[in-house]
Amino acid sequence: MQRFALSGKVALVTGGNGGIGLGIAQGLAEAGADIAIVGRNSDKNATAVARLAALGARARAIVADVAKPEDCRAMVEEAVAAFGGLDILVCNAGTNIRKQPQDYAPEEWRLILDTNLSSVWFSCLAAYPELKKRGRGKIITIGSMMSLFGASFAGPYAASKGGVVQLTRALATAWAKDNIQVNAILPGWIDTELTRRARRDVPGLEERVVQRTPAGRWGTPEDFCGIAVFLASAASDFVTGTAIPVDGGYSVQG
Ligand code: NDP
Repeated sequence: MQRFALSGKVALVTGGNGGIGLGIAQGLAEAGADIAIVGRNSDKNATAVARLAALGARARAIVADVAKPEDCRAMVEEAVAAFGGLDILVCNAGTNIRKQPQDYAPEEWRLILDTNLSSVWFSCLAAYPELKKRGRGKIITIGSMMSLFGASFAGPYAASKGGVVQLTRALATAWAKDNIQVNAILPGWIDTELTRRARRDVPGLEERVVQRTPAGRWGTPEDFCGIAVFLASAASDFVTGTAIPVDGGYSVQG
């Protein structure tokens, strides 16, 4: 299991204070990494740090808004100052507003694109010099089923998540020479705060997801522990530029 070990590694997980991000942070912590989680809400941050500390991890929270380039630079600086470097960046923070395309205001488009896509660009650029300094590095981005499919109620979100996959491929090709691997995870329908809102907004969604998912259930944040450890560890050193669905088979259902 040495190939999967993360002891001595430092990971920064945006949106790590809840949902999928906290599931990923838990997986990385269990494999031995020190963890910096990033979120805007200090209460959620404190609860998540306590959970990670209970797993024996050195964990700290950083308050930042990843839609702002200056915050992305500051969060990387703070993690490096706290833990002495950076090995793993997980760009997970994201948001959604569900409407028909014609009903979005321009500022809603901007909020979704800034939070889900520009944030990945800003975070990766901020982290790159630190990863390069280490001589190796891992970046994990989070796409969606909407990186693959469209949905009438998710125009800006689908555009942002399609962009995340293309950005992942571009960065993977650019930074392979620096021994930095960049891969995307594409979650299926996962039970989190984000989708609790979706189930409220989209009638029948709960049942439709269960019906269409071969595994016959919604995913949980813990379903991301294993893939995160794989993509963050030496076990995936020849894997780069991929987009891996973690979806109970949703995307291959005919
Ligand atoms: P949650 O709403 O549960 O968590 C979102 C996280 O992102 C929170 O930690 C939140 O913290 C943080 N966040 C949001 N905006 C910002 C911001 N501007 N700056 C810093 N942190 C921010 O969502 P999920 O766990 O469901 O989603 C995580 C990722 O997975 C997202 O990228 C989402 O698009 C993607 N995804 C989720 C799916 C699902 O079914 N749940 C399916 C496919 C993809 P805080 O509020 O404290 O800032």
